[in-house]
Amino acid sequence: MVAKCANPSCSIPFLRMGHGKLFRYLPKRSSVDLSDPRPGSTIFFWLCDKCSSTATLKFDSTGAATLEALLEPSTTYMSFTYL
Ligand SMILES: [Zn+2]
Repeated sequence: MVAKCANPSCSIPFLRMGHGKLFRYLPKRSSVDLSDPRPGSTIFFWLCDKCSSTATLKFDSTGAATLEALLEPSTTYMSFTYL
């Protein structure tokens, strides 16, 4: 499901629930995909304890994820796309 912290510059592996913060992202399907019965399009991201104490993940409709600082919302650490 989740292998490591979603922060690209952090390599802490995901070991078990209860540590850090788990984010659930459900990408919007296009009209072409509405007939697709396959489940499992939900994508999970995890931030480790250290990263989740200083940053959060935000998603936009294009599937881009942005890691933002909690204390300074205008500060964007980085943006990355998972689609
Ligand atoms: Zn981390």
